[in-house]
Amino acid sequence: RPRNNMNQEPLNHQVKADNELDRARRELSILYEISNAMRSTLDLDYILYIILTSVTSHTGLGFNRAILFLKNPAERCLEAKMAIGPESPEAAQKIWEYISRCDQDLDDLINKDKLEQKVGQGALFKSVERLKIPLVTKDENLLITAYNNGTAMHIPEEKISQYAFDPLLQVFRTNELVIMPLKAKNQVNGVIIADNLYTRKPITENDLRIFTMLANQAGLAIENSQLYEIIKHKSRSDAITGLWNHGFFQDQLTLEIERSQKANIPVSLLMIDIDNFKELNDAYGHQNGDIVLKEMAGILKDSSRDGDYACRYGGEEFSIILTQTTKDHGYVIAERIRERIAGYCFPKFSSAEQLKVTVSIGLATSPQDAQTKESLILQADKAMYAAKRSGKNKTCLG
Ligand code: GH3
Ligand code: MG
Ligand code: MG
Repeated sequence: RPRNNMNQEPLNHQVKADNELDRARRELSILYEISNAMRSTLDLDYILYIILTSVTSHTGLGFNRAILFLKNPAERCLEAKMAIGPESPEAAQKIWEYISRCDQDLDDLINKDKLEQKVGQGALFKSVERLKIPLVTKDENLLITAYNNGTAMHIPEEKISQYAFDPLLQVFRTNELVIMPLKAKNQVNGVIIADNLYTRKPITENDLRIFTMLANQAGLAIENSQLYEIIKHKSRSDAITGLWNHGFFQDQLTLEIERSQKANIPVSLLMIDIDNFKELNDAYGHQNGDIVLKEMAGILKDSSRDGDYACRYGGEEFSIILTQTTKDHGYVIAERIRERIAGYCFPKFSSAEQLKVTVSIGLATSPQDAQTKESLILQADKAMYAAKRSGKNKTCLG
C-alpha cells in the first residue's frame, strides 16, 4: 500500500512533536506547582521537604531517592539536612503501590502534616547523617567538585566504579547518580544527590535539564528562608547579651499567661536587677560594665531550663519567664541563680581584686499574684524593690 508508506515519515514527526509538547506541558506544570509550594512558606524544613518531595514524587521528577546537603558556613562544610527515599526495594515497591492506589498529586504529597513523620528518621538519612564534607580540601570528591563547579554532575553506571572510594559513595551505595548544586545569586548554598537505584531507570539529559531548573528555584527559596530566620532572630534578641529582648519578652509573657490560664498551670516571673551597677561602671568604665552584662547573661541562660525565657528587660535589669512553675519552685530557682551569681568570679579589671557582683530578685506568680501581664510584671518589680530595700543580694516574693 504505497500511500501509507509515503505518509509514514510526516506521521512520525507529528507523533514526536505531540510527545514533546506533552512533555513540555508536564514539565511546566511541575515547575509551576513546585514554585508555588515553595513560595507558600519561609520555614526552612518545610521548604527542604517540598524540594525533596518534588524531586522524588512520581508527579514531580520521579527519582527513587534524594538527599539534600546544605552549606554550614560556621563549620565550613556541607552536611546532610534531609533525605527522602525508601530504604529497600521492598519498601519502594510498597510505597509505589500505595501511591498508585491513592493517585495523589504533588499538592497532597507535600502536605505539611507529613513532614514531621518523615524527616530525620529514615534509614537513608541515617546513612549520611554523620557525613561532613569540608568545603576547603585538597582531596577531590564528588560533592565538593559539584559545589565548586556549580554545575550538575552525572555519574553514569559505567563510570560509577571509578568513584568507589569517594566519601559519599562509601555510605550512599548506588548504581548511577546525579549531583545537583543549588544556587542563589550565583553562590552555591547546597547540593542534592538523586538516583534511581530501585527502578534502574537511566538518568537522561532531559531529567538533568528539568532538575537544573528546579534546583535554581530551590536555591533561592532556601536562601530566602535562611535570611528570614536570621532577621527574625535579630529582631527578637538583644545585641549586647544575646538574650531575648524586651519586645520578645512582652509578647512571650502574654502567650505564656494565656497558656497557663488555659492549662491551669502556674507561670512565674523573675525580675533581676544588678546591685550597685552604677558604681561598677564608675569604677571600671562602661565597656567593662558591658562585659559584666554579657557574663551575667551567660549565667542566666545557663540557669534556665528548656521552655524558660531569659530576657534583657532593659539596662542592667533582666527577666526570666519560668513556664509551668509554681511560686515555691520559682523561689528555689531564683535563689539558685542569686547564689550562683554571688559566687561567680567576674573578669578582673585593671588591678582590681577579683570582682564580685550581686543581684536582687523579685518573684511573682500567675494566677496567684496576678492575672494579667501588666500586673504580673508590676508585682515582680515591687518584690525586686523590696529586695533592694532589705539590703540587696536577696530574693523577695510578690
Ligand atoms: P541598685 O543597686 O539600686 O540597683 O543600684 P544601681 O547602681 O544598679 O542602679 P541605678 O538604677 O542607679 O543605675 C543603673 C546603672 O546601670 C546606670 C547605668 O549607667 C547602668 N547601665 C544601664 N544599661 C547599661 C549598659 O547597657 N551598659 C552599661 N555598662 N551600663 C548600663
Ligand atoms: Mg535598675
Ligand atoms: Mg541596679
